[in-house]
Amino acid sequence: MNNCTIAFAGNPNAGKTTLFNTVTGSHHHVGNYPGITVERKEGHVQFAGTQLNIIDLPGCYSLTAYTQEELVARQVLVEERPDLVINVVDASKLERHLYLTVQFLELGIPVVLALNMMDDVRSQGITINVEALAKGLGCDVCPTIARNGEGKQNLLQQAIKTTNERQGKWQPLHISYGPDIDPVLNEMEQLINERNFLTDKYPARWSAIKFLESDENLVEQGSYDQTTSSQLQQIVTNLRDHCEKTLNSFPEAIIADYRYGFIHALLRKNVITFPEKEYRFDVTDNLDKFLTHRVLGPSIMVFLLYAMFQITFAFGEYPMQLLAFLFSSLADFVSRVIPAGYLQSLLVSGVIDGIGGVLSFVPLIMIMFIMIAFLEDSGYMARVAYMMDKVFRTFGLHGSSVMPFIISGGIAGGCAVPGVMAARTLRSPREKLATILTAPFMPCGAKIPVFLLLIGAFFSEYKALIMFSITLVAWMIALLIARLLRSTLIKGESTPFVMELPPYRWPTLRGVMIHTWERTAEYIKKAGTVILAISILLWAAMTFPGQTAEQATAYQSQQQQLQQMMEQATTPQQQQQYSIALIDLEKQQGAATLKNSAAGKLGTMLEPLSKWAGFDWRTNIALLGGVAAKEVIVSTLGTAYSLGAVDSDASTNLSERIANDPHWNPIAALSAMLFVLLYAPCFVTIVVIARESNWKWACFALIFNSAVAFSLATIIFQAGKLVS
Ligand code: GDP
Ligand code: MG
Repeated sequence: MNNCTIAFAGNPNAGKTTLFNTVTGSHHHVGNYPGITVERKEGHVQFAGTQLNIIDLPGCYSLTAYTQEELVARQVLVEERPDLVINVVDASKLERHLYLTVQFLELGIPVVLALNMMDDVRSQGITINVEALAKGLGCDVCPTIARNGEGKQNLLQQAIKTTNERQGKWQPLHISYGPDIDPVLNEMEQLINERNFLTDKYPARWSAIKFLESDENLVEQGSYDQTTSSQLQQIVTNLRDHCEKTLNSFPEAIIADYRYGFIHALLRKNVITFPEKEYRFDVTDNLDKFLTHRVLGPSIMVFLLYAMFQITFAFGEYPMQLLAFLFSSLADFVSRVIPAGYLQSLLVSGVIDGIGGVLSFVPLIMIMFIMIAFLEDSGYMARVAYMMDKVFRTFGLHGSSVMPFIISGGIAGGCAVPGVMAARTLRSPREKLATILTAPFMPCGAKIPVFLLLIGAFFSEYKALIMFSITLVAWMIALLIARLLRSTLIKGESTPFVMELPPYRWPTLRGVMIHTWERTAEYIKKAGTVILAISILLWAAMTFPGQTAEQATAYQSQQQQLQQMMEQATTPQQQQQYSIALIDLEKQQGAATLKNSAAGKLGTMLEPLSKWAGFDWRTNIALLGGVAAKEVIVSTLGTAYSLGAVDSDASTNLSERIANDPHWNPIAALSAMLFVLLYAPCFVTIVVIARESNWKWACFALIFNSAVAFSLATIIFQAGKLVS
């Protein structure tokens, strides 16, 4: 079978990922937000007897190595030499998107243009003459609507045809850059060809252009040949001076002007016709008048967030209670079928109560994810970034830091792992670092169950309000810490913000479903694997070494005594009294065993310190486990309180157990929520932080965040004690 490697490339938000998903049948994250695909993805599909290997490249505006995405895209093309680029363009913004197309053509790699979003083009009354466009560019052009798959077959056919015709040969397009630059370009091209300077990788003229554009990456690659490099540099410097003197401009700017000129001239030749102005009613412009209005915009944003939490709780409560009931019935059943002992304890306390605690939040989380997916796919999230930019700037961050924050859980329910990775779209290393270090403060999907649990136990009347406040507090603290870091450890200038706002679109059901399912599945998968493993480990740590021999004998004799007294009891009242005493004894015994266990000892050891913030030794165990993964906090509390309370009445869920425990009260709950919100990022996040910066900063995040969290939790708890 033939084999063919195709790269999908294009500007951010052109619909690459959507097209990639429909072509390969995979379910990658599609966001109506520029710059969301930072890592490359691959898919495979068979079509007309050919095996197509498809790479989804990150979105980029140019092939100059200004940003990481551009560099990644270029490296894939040059190092791996795919047979073909399918350049996805938003046909309703053809002129702007062709800027990148022209650069592919200049590089010479075989290109097929996917003229995407034809539905938008049609509804806006624009007509595009496909043949004329293909002729002007010198490459095949296929109209598509990635969302419903229209034009997909034709595109793939064309791709295979072009691949077969071109056989991997690169044919660079030559554009004229005017009387000042052209002669210099020719001179450089000649020199490059004579010396075989980087010619194994790039066409000569292309390297010359990159030198003129002062492309750092290429200049660096060229440093292996010092003589040629410095000769080229000299030519560039001369031209630069010349342009500055005569035209008051720079080579980069002139090159960009001529590229746009080329595109403009091409489109003029009957390629594109726009409708008369009056017929156009631009939904996006009209909506933005309200949604990004100076005063109305932020108010609407806050209202939407608040509404989102209200809806989540209103709809999520019943399925959640049902699941919790199912799990406690299961626990009940297992404790009846399996005799008391380590196996029963492992299954009930370690597995069912641990995992059940985590899984019973699935309905709530799913509802929240559906709404977030809706906001993302509609294009509203990009407006949030746009509105937040001004605020972020004052705190030393960047408008593009908003997305990492949101992905990390800024609107609740994200995950810091992709959040930290999303910070790659930031250009300035300092802003990137500040973003990476503060994004983990957001209320990620794994912290939410802890909040829900404690809110359920102590503040059940103010659910939405408290969730909303947690979100606000998270943003405030993240921003303040960013400000602090940017004026101490990570000082430096801010960079300007350029982000294109995508048009508003109705999210597709499929898109929202994929989005929601992606995140929910992640949560469930984690519960079934990592969390299960940690849960069992922690159960063992909470069960062994168990009681000392003395304790055990003392307990047994007490138990026998009580049982005997119960048998000898004459009145039913007396009998009941003894049976209660027996249960109490069992509880004490469970608590004593837990306290004597490895985890219990560690938790108790930390108690003198942690009591300042209101945490008892059981909470300490859970918080320590939470560093492995935040979901473990709830499962560990589940196990700890289940081991402590033998009386596993089916109706007592974890929330009630905690509410009834003398160690807990509303102030301790607030302090614990604040601590969980802010303390050390989970293990995976720490690894990702290290990968995106270095281990020094990863360790910093671990220690610094915990210190911040503990100080604030202590302040809240101590202040609360004073007031109450
Ligand atoms: P990427 O950044 O290039 O990967 O773009 P995405 O695939 O993430 O798509 C950006 C947005 O455009 C999403 O909201 C898609 O649903 C939407 N979209 C993609 N293709 C089409 C299309 O053909 N027509 C319309 N109307 N919307 C599309
Ligand atoms: Mg994408």
